[in-house]
Amino acid sequence: MPLNPQVTYWAEHAWLPGANGPAVEREVLIAVGPGGRIAGVTADSGPCPPGAVRLEGLALPGQANAHSHAFHRALRGHVQVGSGTFWTWRDTMYRFAGLLDPDSYLELATAVYAEMALAGITAVGEFHYLHHAPGGVRYEDPNAMGEALIEAAARAGIRITLLDTCYLSSGFGAEPTHAQQRFSDGDAEAWAVRAEALKPREHARIGAAIHSVRAVPAEQLGTVARWAREREAPLHVHLSEQTAENDACLAAHGVTPTRLLADHGALGPRTSAVHATHLTEEDVRLLASSGTTICMCPTTERDLADGIGPARALASAGCPISLGSDSHAVIDPWEEARALELDERLRTRTRGHWTANALLRAGGEDGHASIGWPEAGRIEAGALADFTVIALDTVRTAGPPARLGAEIAVFAASAADVRHVVVGGRQVVRDGAHLLVGDVPGALAASIGALSS
Ligand SMILES: [Zn+2]
Repeated sequence: MPLNPQVTYWAEHAWLPGANGPAVEREVLIAVGPGGRIAGVTADSGPCPPGAVRLEGLALPGQANAHSHAFHRALRGHVQVGSGTFWTWRDTMYRFAGLLDPDSYLELATAVYAEMALAGITAVGEFHYLHHAPGGVRYEDPNAMGEALIEAAARAGIRITLLDTCYLSSGFGAEPTHAQQRFSDGDAEAWAVRAEALKPREHARIGAAIHSVRAVPAEQLGTVARWAREREAPLHVHLSEQTAENDACLAAHGVTPTRLLADHGALGPRTSAVHATHLTEEDVRLLASSGTTICMCPTTERDLADGIGPARALASAGCPISLGSDSHAVIDPWEEARALELDERLRTRTRGHWTANALLRAGGEDGHASIGWPEAGRIEAGALADFTVIALDTVRTAGPPARLGAEIAVFAASAADVRHVVVGGRQVVRDGAHLLVGDVPGALAASIGALSS
């Protein structure tokens, strides 16, 4: 990621941290220093000075998409025909998974990450389990698929945490199915050896994931948890998205999935539990007391009819909240953020569970911490210079005063209102156009069309 330490941006408005909480400030100079970090932030600086890059609109921290499976983007539309269940949706997903190789995944993921950049996302947590060739045959480089994802993020100009996922079983004690053989390393020790060969880059960090308690036998959970702990790396896990997982876990082990993870050392402040939809009160206590982050994926959870998870109860108990677009039914971090609040309103018939500021924190600071970039997600000196500028003069956002910028961004804006995106001080999106991937819709159509033909 080439850096430009000389650049200074001037934002018409910016959402900045403050002693009394975040607030929208005007005429904000953001100077980028060495390492793509913010060297200084000055509010009320007056008109844009000569030499500064003018950014009209509201600058917000770049958004972290804490849970992604890039290839699910190819399912869009296909999985909305007819009805079906989570499990029939999964059959369609496996069909697309079977079509990808490292070259085609590089093309697809580059387009998907470019779509993310256009939506205001500056870092992605890629929960990656499509490791091997069909039938489980190893590629010459056993990490060829993961490397394709890291390269795709570089081409799209965003940061990535490759959450290399251990996926060994089709259910409690069951061998992987044919489709799942691409996902399996055989056992957790072999997973660890392969994951060890992945190296971080300037734009990329490496983390671990347990696909779920369905997919990793209980006695091997500790191997993955230890690998992440020894490297101080993030550890992600799908948790209790479906009641069937809870039922099967109780039948196999006599405890809930959360309890099973806790008993094997898989919860903690560097762990993110994804979905956490169907929990007991004890599960909530275990997640909160361990400092585990909860990654909510509201647009996917509603698409798959999962249910509404107890995000408010988890947050009140002390769990940080991050957000992910998961299956990419849509890629819109503003929609994910507002859905957290609006789902809770529907469930409780009361308003005001999260402020707009709190929702921006989930996509910003807490989202970045969830995927192992704790130095991003804030527009302040010392933080990585990753920010997103929302237009305040579009048909959706025009009208309210700019001091309500956080409320406008979260409750009215969409991905289409993102005007500029800066990652590590480098502008990746300008005036709604991706500067590195010239034709993002064309890239999506070509890469997905190649799979469908
Ligand atoms: Zn997922």
